[in-house]
Amino acid sequence: MSSYDITIIGSGPGGYVAAIRCAQLGMKTAIIEKYDTLGGTCLNVGCIPSKALLDSSEHYHNATHTFDTHGIEVKDVKANIKQMIQRKNDVVEQTTKGIQFLMDKNKIDVHHGLGSFVDKTTIKITDKDGKESTITSKNTIIATGSKPNYFEGMEPDKKRIITSTEALEMKEIPKKMLVIGGGVIGLELGSVFGRLGTQIDVVEFAPRIIPTMDGTMSKELTKVLKKEGFKFHLEHRVQNVENTGKGVKLTALNKKGEEVTMEADYCLVAVGRKPYTAGLGLENAGVNVNDRGQVEVNDHLQTNVPNIYAIGDVVRGAMLAHKAEEEGVFVAELLAGQKPHLNYNLIPGVVYTWPEVASVGKTEEELKEEGKAIKVGSFPIKALGRARASMDIMGTVKIIADQETDEVLGVHMICARAADLIMEAVTAMEYRASAEDMARICHPHPTYSEGVKEAALAAFENRPLHV
Ligand code: FAD
Ligand code: NAD
Repeated sequence: MSSYDITIIGSGPGGYVAAIRCAQLGMKTAIIEKYDTLGGTCLNVGCIPSKALLDSSEHYHNATHTFDTHGIEVKDVKANIKQMIQRKNDVVEQTTKGIQFLMDKNKIDVHHGLGSFVDKTTIKITDKDGKESTITSKNTIIATGSKPNYFEGMEPDKKRIITSTEALEMKEIPKKMLVIGGGVIGLELGSVFGRLGTQIDVVEFAPRIIPTMDGTMSKELTKVLKKEGFKFHLEHRVQNVENTGKGVKLTALNKKGEEVTMEADYCLVAVGRKPYTAGLGLENAGVNVNDRGQVEVNDHLQTNVPNIYAIGDVVRGAMLAHKAEEEGVFVAELLAGQKPHLNYNLIPGVVYTWPEVASVGKTEEELKEEGKAIKVGSFPIKALGRARASMDIMGTVKIIADQETDEVLGVHMICARAADLIMEAVTAMEYRASAEDMARICHPHPTYSEGVKEAALAAFENRPLHV
């Protein structure tokens, strides 16, 4: 029986990064993954494949919408969904193979099979042929991630009523798709098919889309997506969705309590994800879960069983790949006797629509609710030369600072390349910069980053230069 200093169950971004850092720190490390490929949700059916399809569909959209204005004439442009999915699969394959390479390079033992606690130091691994083996481990990190959530009446049948996993494997471009949930998955995958010509109708329970992000972002993104042809049915409570054979029929109650029915080819259920612990045998190790199904952890990501830790989507907090990764590094360094640091307030969030939405720190709504005295500076992207040159003029940058101290408390932006631009704000906030600090830094011209400088000037002393 093999014995390890540390075993990680689950090879998503939380698990594989934890494994690498543990190995770097000299621990004898094992990782257990129930699927044949490493990389978890993120690499196989999440971040990477969705971004591959977002990029392909964006190229198609540009070819059919903006090329002529740029002076590029193309004829008979066609979207080939089969090829798009094939390219996406190739990207996934290369990326997951890369993780196997990293495991080998760091001398991490990879065990394929379902990991299940026998007791708090013994783990049974059952491979796909049912063959069992057992290992022992001084410490264990649970990194088993999450699965798509759904509510009564909208159970996915994976044929017409689908989750993100099936949406990434579509064999046709639907004429019409209903999307339940106007959150990140609904809007990203809605964008993929919307750009390819599918009519997208979003049915959202809340009064606005991306309801946890800053209100201005939600308003701006609604405008952009409506222009692209999205229809939004807000404050609608879904009652039932059924597969009619050739399509789907959805019934919902609108905010007046009236019954509304909608029909389409497919219905994508995107109402959040739930922590995944099935088959893990937590009860055998005595590990507690809370009423939301999350593995309960303290500030050190340690469960109630001292040698067992948990990270990523299976614990509380944002369900994001980079949050899972940071938690993996945090636990590895903690076990090595170091004093790691993780600032949960500074985990950026991105929605990969076009333009992208990116955010860090508190929203204006949260700060107002806390009763904080704030000042807000905004800058419209269309005022930038770079934006006009590339024809990406939609969007705005918004910086919120403390009224008294000028410290930046939140940065929210919707614009081209916001996903990369947000890092300037994360870095500034990590060092507790003021709006003046951000405004006085020299930004290259012409770039979208000038929008950040201008919004900082607007927040500092209400004196942007270019509006
Ligand atoms: P996971 O990635 O879910 O990995 C868990 C792994 O554990 C899986 O491989 C699973 O098979 C394995 N496992 C579970 N139980 C066992 C067991 N008992 N034994 C062995 N193995 C087990 N996040 C972002 O930050 N950016 C994005 O752009 C983004 N896009 C997304 C798009 C989509 C469509 C989806 C669905 C998610 C997206 N996410 C994105 C979220 C991101 O994928 C997750 O936050 C991230 O994967 C969580 O990492 P994790 O390591 O906690 O778990
Ligand atoms: P989400 O929490 O982002 O959005 C779910 C949406 O569904 C919300 O707007 C919510 O109000 C709505 N909703 C909930 N119940 C509903 C109901 N009964 N009827 C109608 N609407 C309802 O969740 P998601 O989009 O499913 O994504 C799951 C997780 O994956 C998220 O936590 C997200 O962080 C992560 N993810 C991240 C990215 C990214 O970082 N770009 C991309 C995809 C997914």
